[in-house]
Amino acid sequence: MIRLTGIEKRFSGNPVLKGVDLTVAEGAVTALIGPSGSGKSTLLRCANLLEIPDGGAVEIQDLRLEFSAGRRPSQAEILRLRRRTGMIFQNFQLFPHRRVIENVMEGLVTVQKWPKERARERAMDLLGKVGVAEKAEAWPATLSGGQQQRVAIARALAPSPALILCDEPTSALDPELAEEVVDVLRALASEGATMLMATHDLRLARSVASHVAFLEGGEIVEEGAPETIFSAPAEPRTVRFVRSLG
Ligand code: ATP
Ligand code: MG
Repeated sequence: MIRLTGIEKRFSGNPVLKGVDLTVAEGAVTALIGPSGSGKSTLLRCANLLEIPDGGAVEIQDLRLEFSAGRRPSQAEILRLRRRTGMIFQNFQLFPHRRVIENVMEGLVTVQKWPKERARERAMDLLGKVGVAEKAEAWPATLSGGQQQRVAIARALAPSPALILCDEPTSALDPELAEEVVDVLRALASEGATMLMATHDLRLARSVASHVAFLEGGEIVEEGAPETIFSAPAEPRTVRFVRSLG
């Protein structure tokens, strides 16, 4: 289970997250929706400590770290927690000078110290799973955006993270390519992956998420089942936002 408790984050004194509580159950997929600037990316980055929260706690499985203005966890603690997560970004962020398969093997070899051959086997399995095995020896720039994102998903999955974080995984893609990525994420969800994803993509949120949280102004306004949030939200602010999605 993943539990964020009272997460606070300020940038130059400006509060961006104002005490966010969010739990993602084992095997659940939570979609984080909300207007631009509401703090979605910041919350994901706090969950894997790419940003260090100013207050609150992050808990992934049996590891819980607490934050306050006076307490910054050690680098070792930060890495222990971060290694329980894998992240997928809007713009893929593959290493351009490494072949596709090397992108997927990288973390296994350098961080987990796996022997290269074993890492290569796992990377090939994962590339097969996301449907780009035939691109293993290609350079990332020669792949379509949808293929690159599927490689990025394979890379995130390689170390078997407890939590997969996705920040707008389909928003840089044309609709057909986005569909490929949605299909892969849906398959992962049905296999029991635990995910927290920020997205403006209604199709992604509706077809993959088991839970939806609406963030506005650094606070969770409302959360619940996708049908409830998208079809019968209770809070006027949620109603307004969902309407704006069209
Ligand atoms: P979008 O839907 O556009 O991706 P978002 O909900 O992901 O928006 P964030 O990127 O989390 O929003 O940003 C929330 C607020 O925090 C914004 O006002 C942003 O300008 C600010 N912010 C984010 N990162 C930083 C930073 N590193 N330094 C200063 N301000 C930041
Ligand atoms: Mg964002």
